[in-house]
Amino acid sequence: MFAETKSLNEECGVFGIWNHPDASRVTYFGLHSLQHRGQEGAGIVSGDHLALRGYRGLGLIAEVFKDSQNLTNLTGSRAIGHVRYATSGNNSIQNIQPFLFHFYDMSVGVCHNGNIINAKQLRKELEEDGAIFHSSSDTEVLMHLIRRSSKTTFEEQLKESLCKIKGGFTYLLLTKDCLYGAVDPNSLRPIAIGQMKNGSYVLASETCAIDTVGAKFVRNVNAGEYVVISEQGIRVESYTKDTMISIAAMEYVYFARPDSDIAGVNVHTARKRSGKHLALECPCPQADIVIGVPNSSLSGASGYAEQSGLPYEMGLVKNQYIARTFIQPTQELREQGVRMKLSAVKGVVEGKNVVMVDDSIVRGTTSLRIVKLLKEAGANQVHVRIASPPLLFPSFYGIDISTTSELIAANKSLEEICQYIGADSLGFLSEAGLIDAIGLSFDAPYKGLCMECFNGDYSAGLYDYEKDFFANLTPIQLAHLEKRRKALV
Ligand code: AMP
Repeated sequence: MFAETKSLNEECGVFGIWNHPDASRVTYFGLHSLQHRGQEGAGIVSGDHLALRGYRGLGLIAEVFKDSQNLTNLTGSRAIGHVRYATSGNNSIQNIQPFLFHFYDMSVGVCHNGNIINAKQLRKELEEDGAIFHSSSDTEVLMHLIRRSSKTTFEEQLKESLCKIKGGFTYLLLTKDCLYGAVDPNSLRPIAIGQMKNGSYVLASETCAIDTVGAKFVRNVNAGEYVVISEQGIRVESYTKDTMISIAAMEYVYFARPDSDIAGVNVHTARKRSGKHLALECPCPQADIVIGVPNSSLSGASGYAEQSGLPYEMGLVKNQYIARTFIQPTQELREQGVRMKLSAVKGVVEGKNVVMVDDSIVRGTTSLRIVKLLKEAGANQVHVRIASPPLLFPSFYGIDISTTSELIAANKSLEEICQYIGADSLGFLSEAGLIDAIGLSFDAPYKGLCMECFNGDYSAGLYDYEKDFFANLTPIQLAHLEKRRKALV
């Protein structure tokens, strides 16, 4: 089911800089702080008013540029870079970004974060019209649309092309004259603008990268907007007025770094508030201590402890040198990854009734393994509390929430999940609790959040995925959609 989804989803990090003597090196540092968004490949395209050049490779940014000469070669005062997360079968070098296109009249570097949900349809139309694709990545689609546009300037061609693309996306594009950054009409995937002391502008998927390179946050690129930076300065324009803010809730729940702000809300603070709401919604009076699963749920666990008045303890230790478990393409390797990644602190959990807070359950692998670890370390009871609602639906907007068949909550009831992971009790935060905890206040559904994975409300539509989605709903998904439909009536 949803085989297509699995090969197309991407959750990545992008960084761009304009007018800096060490543009590619600053981009390297920026990408370093976005490494949590993708570890499978990385690359940088840099240049000046004469030419663009690029280098990319598989692995972490530090591995790709292990030979520092590869970075030194990337001269020029402007650059864009990308760290890539990709699912299995799609991690060949051809798909590593930024792509660098050389045409007879210009060169363009382009990188992309997110997922285009009408890519299949657009590709078909473009191929029928004679386009030849070089990679299996969606990113090329934008470039083909731009080159086929009848508009006369690159900016107009870009605007026209962005209007044809549906889904969650951010793009960075570099020509020898301009750096562009564009955000989808729902603001599903973020871009923030920063400015360095020397006046250089930077663009980044998360504000943590802006801080890392010593820049000051200027503003976000909002839904349906694009930013153009050139020798003439900086402009933010709209390519469409047909927008509705719907920021991916999973950015707050799991993806973003705790020191990043999204739409003015600090990620750590949102997670901590989620933990507090969780403690109110799913208390655990018999517990002695609260622990979190490092790193993404530590903020949530501290909120749970604070709200419930229980001691917040370090019950699990993470080996910081292992990449995220999801990066492993098979279930067997993922399980091995969890074992290498986490250890229980025996002296803390032995004989205790433990509340173990995690940010989310996808397949159930992590919770199952951790409950076992904690019990093997002598924990008396393990009560699992999840600081987000059950992940019932796949994501089509660029977060690897996999296929429906792998989503445990789309296939098992709460009691069955609890039994599967071997916990003494299990509780999830409600949808309303998460919306409240994140605390956006936009005049839009869910106060400006995209809750697609929790409630099946796909704010940017389904396009290529629609037929498959409705044909393959599980009874649990159907019941949830029905509940939402009734609530709307
Ligand atoms: P699982 O072990 O399959 O249940 O995955 C749950 C764990 O993966 C949690 O500890 C989360 O922190 C993390 N996680 C949640 N969503 C994602 C995602 N889209 N990609 C990678 N990891 C995730």
